[in-house]
Amino acid sequence: MTDIAIYDWIASHAKSRPERVALVDDFSGRSFSYAELDRRVGALAAFMLDTLGIAAGDRVATLGHNSTNILEIQFACMRVGALFVPLNVRLAAPELIEVIRDCGARVVFHDCEFRAVVADIAAAVGATPVEMNESGQACAYEEAIAGHAPRGPRHGGTLGDTWTLIYTSGTTGRPKGVLISYQMVLYHAVNYGFSTGLTPDSHGLTFLPMFHTSGLNLPANPALHAGATVTVMRRFDPPRALALMGRKESPVSHTFGVPANYLFMRLLPEFAEADLRGVRSLGVGGAPMPIPLLQAYADKGVSMQQTFGMTETGPTVTILSAERGFDKLGSAGLPIVHVETLIADKDGAAVAPGDIGELCVRGPSITTGYWNRPEESRSAFRDGWFRTGDMARQDEDGYFYIVDRSKNMYISGGENVYPAEVERVIEKLAGVVEVAVVAEADEKWGEVGRAYVVRDPSVALTEDDIIRYCRAEIAGYKVPRYVSFIGALPHNATGKLDRLHLRKIADKESENACTPV
Ligand code: ATP
Ligand code: MG
Repeated sequence: MTDIAIYDWIASHAKSRPERVALVDDFSGRSFSYAELDRRVGALAAFMLDTLGIAAGDRVATLGHNSTNILEIQFACMRVGALFVPLNVRLAAPELIEVIRDCGARVVFHDCEFRAVVADIAAAVGATPVEMNESGQACAYEEAIAGHAPRGPRHGGTLGDTWTLIYTSGTTGRPKGVLISYQMVLYHAVNYGFSTGLTPDSHGLTFLPMFHTSGLNLPANPALHAGATVTVMRRFDPPRALALMGRKESPVSHTFGVPANYLFMRLLPEFAEADLRGVRSLGVGGAPMPIPLLQAYADKGVSMQQTFGMTETGPTVTILSAERGFDKLGSAGLPIVHVETLIADKDGAAVAPGDIGELCVRGPSITTGYWNRPEESRSAFRDGWFRTGDMARQDEDGYFYIVDRSKNMYISGGENVYPAEVERVIEKLAGVVEVAVVAEADEKWGEVGRAYVVRDPSVALTEDDIIRYCRAEIAGYKVPRYVSFIGALPHNATGKLDRLHLRKIADKESENACTPV
C-alpha cells in the first residue's frame, strides 16, 4: 500500500510552484509561498518529533483564533502521523479540559491570549504548552521553526488513518470527536474543487473558525490542494470580508459562510456598492439560508452556492451549482461527486419520490465514527449508510431540500412541525431580520411553536401581523401560537443559531413582550 508521503500536497506544490503564494494571514499581514510553507511545516514536524517527543498516533491540540499557524500545524501533523485536534476557543477551561482528557492530547499550541487557561489545562492534564504569537513576533512557535531542520514527507501510514479529530460544535449536546482520515480530506478536496472550479489561480478566503470543519475545508484545504492562495481571516469581520471580495487586485474567488455571515454583510451600508462579480463561488451552508437573503445577493449578480454538509461528512454532501442558483432557489442542490445519498424512512428503506425522510450518505469523504465512542459510532450507521439526523426531500429533478434536523421537529395536535419550514415563511415578511421557532409544551396540543423575531426597527410589525401572515401561508397546526420580539438571536462560535441558549436569553430579555396571541 502506498504510504502517506505521496499525498503530502504541500511538498509537491513546493516542487511544482515554489514561488506561488500559498497562505496570507490577514491579521499579521504575513504571507508564505509554497516553498516557505513546506519548509515551515517540515521544521515544525522536526520540532514535534525530536524536541517534543511526539510519535505517530499521538494527539496534538491547538487553541487559537484562525491564523496560518493552525494550517501549518495541521500539515506538520501529517508529516509526523500525529492527530491534529483544533480546540474551540469559546469553550471554558473545564470544557477544554474535558475535551483534552477525551482525546489525550500531549501538546497544546496556543495563542498568547490563552496563556492562563492553557496553564490551568497543563496543570490538570499534563499537556505541554507551546506559545504562538498572532502577529508573528518572537515566541516559542517561531523559535521552534527557526531552530529545526525541515523534515520531508512521512513514509508510512495509509489513507484510512485518522489525521484530525474535530469536536462537533455541540449544537445538540456534548461535543464528540469526529474521526477525520486523510482520505476524507483528500476526497473532499477533489469533490469540492471540482464542483466549485478551484484552480491554481483561485484565491480562497476562510473566515469561519478553524476548530470547525468549515474553517479548515471551506475552502482552505481544497484550495491548498489545488495549489491556490488562501487568505486566512482571524475572525469574521463583515466589512473586511466584503472588502476582500470586492477589491480590484486579486479579489477573493472562493469563500464560504453560514447564513449569519451573509446577513451581517448585507446589513452594511457599503453592501449596495460592493462589486462581487470577481467571486466565483460564494458558498453557504451549515443552516437554512433565508430566501430573501439569497435574493439580495442574486440581485447583485452573484449566485450563491447553497450546500449541505456536516463535520461527519467531510463536510460537503450536496451543492447547488451557481447556474441553477436562481431557478432552484432554496435547494441544497445535488450530491457532490463521489458521495452517494439515500432518503430513508424509519426502517432505512428509500422513501417514495418527493417524500420527507432522513438523509443518509456514504462514500470516501464520510467519517467512520467518533473517537472513543464505540456505541455512538455504531448507531450513526445503518446498513453502511451514515445517518445525518437531518430530514430532507428531493424534487422531481432530484434536487435536495433540507427540511430540518429531526431533533428540532415537534408534534402539535398529532401533526409533525418542522420549525425551519415555519421560519422560512416568516423570513419573507418585510421587517423581519431574523427568526427562530421553538416548541413549547401545551396542555391542549401537546406542543406549540413560539417564534422569536428580530425586527427591523424602521418597520411597524406586530405579533398579529406575523400570525395573520402565517395563517395565510401555512397549515393552521404549523402557525406559531406565540410571537416574542427579541433584540438579537444567539449564535454559536460557527455563527449558527444556538437554540439551547435562545430560551434562556429570551426569558431574561423580554418577559412582558411574550404576548400570547
Ligand atoms: P452538533 O453535532 O455538535 O450538535 P452541528 O450538527 O451543528 O453540532 P456541524 O457538523 O457543524 O455541527 O453541522 C452540521 C449540521 O448543520 C447538519 O447536520 C444540519 O443540521 C445543518 N446544516 C448544514 N447545512 C445545512 C443546510 N444547507 N440547510 C439546513 N441545515 C443545514
Ligand atoms: Mg451534528
